[in-house]
Amino acid sequence: MVYDIVIVGGGIVGLATGLKIQNERPDLKIAILEKEDQLAKHQTGNNSGVIHSGLYYKPGSLKATNCINGYHELVKFCEEEKIPFEITGKVVVATREEQKPLLKTLLDRGLQNGLTGTRSITLEELKEYEPHCAGVAAIHVPQTGIVDYFQVALAYGRKIIQKGGEIFLNHKVLEINLKEGINYIETSKGTFESKLVINCAGLYSDLVARMNDASITDVKIIPFRGEYYKLKKEKEYLVKNLIYPVPDPNFPFLGVHFTRMKKGGVEAGPNAVLAFRREGYKKSQINLGELAETLAWPGFQKVAAKYWKTGFGELYRSFSKAAFTKALQELIPEIQESDLVDGGAGVRAQACDRTGGLLDDFAIRESAFAINVLNAPSPAATSSLSIGGTVAAMALKRFS
Ligand SMILES: Cc1cc2nc3c(=O)[nH]c(=O)nc-3n(C[C@H](O)[C@H](O)[C@H](O)COP(=O)(O)OP(=O)(O)OC[C@H]3O[C@@H](n4cnc5c(N)ncnc54)[C@H](O)[C@@H]3O)c2cc1C
Repeated sequence: MVYDIVIVGGGIVGLATGLKIQNERPDLKIAILEKEDQLAKHQTGNNSGVIHSGLYYKPGSLKATNCINGYHELVKFCEEEKIPFEITGKVVVATREEQKPLLKTLLDRGLQNGLTGTRSITLEELKEYEPHCAGVAAIHVPQTGIVDYFQVALAYGRKIIQKGGEIFLNHKVLEINLKEGINYIETSKGTFESKLVINCAGLYSDLVARMNDASITDVKIIPFRGEYYKLKKEKEYLVKNLIYPVPDPNFPFLGVHFTRMKKGGVEAGPNAVLAFRREGYKKSQINLGELAETLAWPGFQKVAAKYWKTGFGELYRSFSKAAFTKALQELIPEIQESDLVDGGAGVRAQACDRTGGLLDDFAIRESAFAINVLNAPSPAATSSLSIGGTVAAMALKRFS
């Protein structure tokens, strides 16, 4: 059988894309191929669970538009499907005088992105929102929320199956060959034929892209592990909702923060350290081939040269719980090392070009018989239905 569309990757982006395609064109034959024995095992199942508001992103960028549109679609989906979520609001806190201008820039950006109600708050108000938090200035973002994205992704998957789509677990895509307008997709469990391939393979998206389009040699996924601690149960009172630092504008990550999780508990993190394998959730997990490829990538060498200081700081905090605690104490001074227990990790797929640019925006590239989602880092979970809609529209114009 020849499928109309095969999607590689059963994370939240692949599933949202499948769902959007099916909603528009239930007559098309679609399949999702996932290499693991369950959906959403990687980035989607190991993230902070924040419904981002759109505060951080450059107005007009794909991140800004898809985050804001995706936010509203996600909230509606959760309401309709009865997936628990909460709009908690969050505070972003400057802890040093020199961060004040950056906080102001962030506020302006949020307002430009249409975040009505986002505002500077006094230190007294900060104490009302977060009684244990300290800082020299703060803003409050009422739109931010929390959800369990693993549950959201499973719900997308259930709907795809209800509507007649097919999901194949334990099917790792190994090779894609194009012959006379048909993609022959070789998997660990047999060959699939499809008119169009959509690559949503997250941490392996660059490799799957090269399987369907040998000319995509200008981007590489660099895996950055984000490690978390959890607050001990008896210390969870220290955080009411979400507390974020002012992010370093030169670094694509938000800095260690406190997040009340919808599934329970309070997480502190994530940091950002180079993972020694693409799915390297622990320091001890190393894949020499993958690590050698990362180190040999010219763009990575430039990133390493540019961010070595920040990178060493992150690495030091990864090995030293005391240093990690010290970073957290900037936001909540009374936190002690003994209040924190190990909280697991996630690995971010961050695309990097040859010249050392970490791709800031979402990146989607199409060719005659394939669409490749090449960069879908945070806030892609929040944005999933909007990114899915964008990719679906690109796909469906070929089937009109
Ligand atoms: C630590 C961390 C914190 C984050 N926090 C947030 C947050 O709070 N809010 C937010 O909006 N976003 C957050 N994000 C970002 C968000 O989780 C990701 O952007 C999103 O999950 C990406 O989804 P995806 O489907 O592209 O990737 P993934 O979820 O990684 O899915 C890709 C899938 O492709 C499969 N795959 C790969 N190769 C193959 C192959 N060859 N054959 C078949 N299948 C294959 C994988 O097994 C995987 O299931 C965070 C990410 C991390 C890592």
